[in-house]
Amino acid sequence: MAVFDHPDFDNHERVFFKTDANSGLKAIIAIHNTQRGPALGGCRMFPYASSEEALSDVLRLSRSMTYKAAMAGLQLGGGKAVIIGDPAKTKTKELLHAMADFVDELSGCYITAEDSGTLVEDMRVMAERTRYVAGFSQDNDLANSNSGDPSPTTALGVFLGLKAAVDFKLGADLQDVKIAIQGIGKVGYALAELLVGAGAEILVSDINPMNVSRAVEHLGAKELAATDSICADVDVLAPCAMGNAINEKTLPLIKAKVIAGSANNQLATPEMGRELMNMGILYAPDYVINAGGLIDVHNTLYCQRDEQMLQTQIQRIADTLMCIFKRSEKEQLPTNTIVDLMAKEILEKPSKDSKAA
Ligand code: NAD
Repeated sequence: MAVFDHPDFDNHERVFFKTDANSGLKAIIAIHNTQRGPALGGCRMFPYASSEEALSDVLRLSRSMTYKAAMAGLQLGGGKAVIIGDPAKTKTKELLHAMADFVDELSGCYITAEDSGTLVEDMRVMAERTRYVAGFSQDNDLANSNSGDPSPTTALGVFLGLKAAVDFKLGADLQDVKIAIQGIGKVGYALAELLVGAGAEILVSDINPMNVSRAVEHLGAKELAATDSICADVDVLAPCAMGNAINEKTLPLIKAKVIAGSANNQLATPEMGRELMNMGILYAPDYVINAGGLIDVHNTLYCQRDEQMLQTQIQRIADTLMCIFKRSEKEQLPTNTIVDLMAKEILEKPSKDSKAA
């Protein structure tokens, strides 16, 4: 399908395609909007079933990045990259270098970072070929909390947002709720650690059994079959895997009263937001609750590292969500509709001096 006619095309500024026969790279970079600054967004590697699926993902993800940066008050635009391939099988140094060359060709209007299927180590490899990479540090000690990996700060924002949503919807504390985490990868695991620390009961699912075992062994989580996480009998569902977790098939099965997780594009269509509202389920919009890592990466790129400032900015995610929940209740509009309206209001403001330094 042509890009301009694609249902997920949203006046994206530019969309680039790249193949490299030597490394096997097949990738797409979408730049949605650079009105507020350079487009920053992760590089996802996933074994997409078709190039159509990859195009749809990159168009939707890059648009969310524009809205995410705007809602977090950052002077950044929205972009995203996808590599078509299985990270467990075809991610090589040559492929990462070819991807880095692709990023470099865009001369900084797109800045990449890790995402699902890529790691901080991969960003270091890409940085050998381009300076337009963020979310890693030169420190080789990956166990160091300053390794630059944005996953822990993403998880912190989700934790605080989830706590706010539980308070708003259920009037409960975390030690009184049961939470199902779908996808116990980089963010899911870090979120699970925080939730267990706060006394919550957690159930986890993942298509990778090793990830589940780690959470069961180290965190005392209960195991859920990958197919059962959506319909689990829990108070909160935290989608932390891929997009489209809430779709026409899964929607009627949901028992949780709160949905709050890190995954991008959790709703298969915007209409799912209305359905959730009608079912009495509070949805914490994905691109607000998962902005912690973007804020962290932004600060590393443009500000002196200041832990206190970072914590304050991430805490604001919970405050923003509370505003969205209250406005949703008052205006009787779904939370995803409210947040899209708020993001558009920000983007429509004149931005004569809004370009990043
Ligand atoms: P990850 O690849 O480390 O983890 C995702 C996990 O989900 C993997 O363990 C994978 O096996 C599992 N998974 C995939 N499909 C599944 C399914 N159907 N059921 C259960 N498990 C499944 O990725 P991550 O970095 O933790 O990111 C998770 C989500 O959060 C992604 O949607 C990503 O775009 C989003 N996100 C991540 C960050 C970040 O800082 N890493 C920031 C913002 C948003």
